[in-house]
Amino acid sequence: MIKIRVDIIGGSLSGISAGISLKKNDKSIEVIIHEKHKKIGYNHEGRRCGEAHSVESKWISDIPKGKSIFNNITRFELIIGGRKRIIHREINKTFVLNRQEYIYQLGKQAEKLGVIFLTNDKIKTINELNGDFIIDASGCPSLVKRELGLNRGIKGTTYQHTLENSNYFISDTLKVIYSDFGGYFWIFPRNSLKNEINLGVGSFTNFNYNLKEMLEKFKEEQQIEGKINYITGGLIPIGIQRPLRYQNILFIGDAGVGTYPISGQGIYRALISGNIAGKFLAMKNPKKYAHMINKIFIRWDLLCKTFLLPNFLFRKINPKLIIALLNRYFDFLNFAHI
Ligand SMILES: Cc1cc2nc3c(=O)[nH]c(=O)nc-3n(C[C@H](O)[C@H](O)[C@H](O)COP(=O)(O)OP(=O)(O)OC[C@H]3O[C@@H](n4cnc5c(N)ncnc54)[C@H](O)[C@@H]3O)c2cc1C
Repeated sequence: MIKIRVDIIGGSLSGISAGISLKKNDKSIEVIIHEKHKKIGYNHEGRRCGEAHSVESKWISDIPKGKSIFNNITRFELIIGGRKRIIHREINKTFVLNRQEYIYQLGKQAEKLGVIFLTNDKIKTINELNGDFIIDASGCPSLVKRELGLNRGIKGTTYQHTLENSNYFISDTLKVIYSDFGGYFWIFPRNSLKNEINLGVGSFTNFNYNLKEMLEKFKEEQQIEGKINYITGGLIPIGIQRPLRYQNILFIGDAGVGTYPISGQGIYRALISGNIAGKFLAMKNPKKYAHMINKIFIRWDLLCKTFLLPNFLFRKINPKLIIALLNRYFDFLNFAHI
């Protein structure tokens, strides 16, 4: 029997999820994950994020457990133009992850299933790879899409501090504050042993903002204190980043399904897309991957785009209009989604 080989670029959430799924669906497939950093999980150069993770559907069989969970979130505070909504959620549906531990645990699980990890292995071009299929899980911006000139999806920008000994640590509450600049601030609890928080800002519509300054100002206004121990940020893909497939290459995670900024979901989409890509490649039916992703996410993608469009159009004319629209939008989402 001819053995199939799949090369995966990127050993983070989406890449490892794909590796696990491939092996679970067909253990004869040779799966190689190429990761540019030295370690899977605990590596200092590897990006952290807000680390809020909502488990939404039957697709995720392995919800995070043990040390990979910092906090179980049951309360959302959404503030839009001064109007506050408190949304309560069931326990074990939304977590703040210890992202590094979670990725480490996923990596161990993948290794047990026979996935091969090549660390310190930065892929420079897809020509280096000779697998029958390639999965691009290299994040945003995607390595392969840049090489092939396919990097077309809508992007936003983010900037985040992790603060320890913060006066704003509340272990069960995520706080999101939408503002008329066309984005939002977030305050998420992190490690309770350090009273740590992740505090950030994201803009969906404008790359010219000085997000660092905006975050400092926000901290001052809200009187948020704490010692900065980690800074991150960068591009965030907004909605599906088409194409999802190009010849024998599938794009997953930030390189493919992107994030849904209204709910902040990137981790969830990364895990699900990896899972689905693995399943359909194991069935040697890569075309079905794009079909399934569209089926699952098209509704949220359309909502996302209908939100972005007025944001682009009206923000400069009357920012208050955006806030009014957002409030309407969230009235709908509260009912339909969160
Ligand atoms: C500031 C910020 C806050 C965020 N907050 C949240 C949040 O609270 N909740 C949420 O759900 N999402 C959040 N996100 C989004 C979330 O981080 C991403 O959606 C998620 O990490 C995507 O996972 P991924 O595996 O596709 O990509 P990544 O996690 O970006 O991983 C890509 C991997 O590929 C490797 N790689 C890249 N290039 C190469 C190469 N050439 N060769 C080999 N390896 C390579 C990288 O080292 C990395 O390990 C946030 C993002 C940012 C920037």
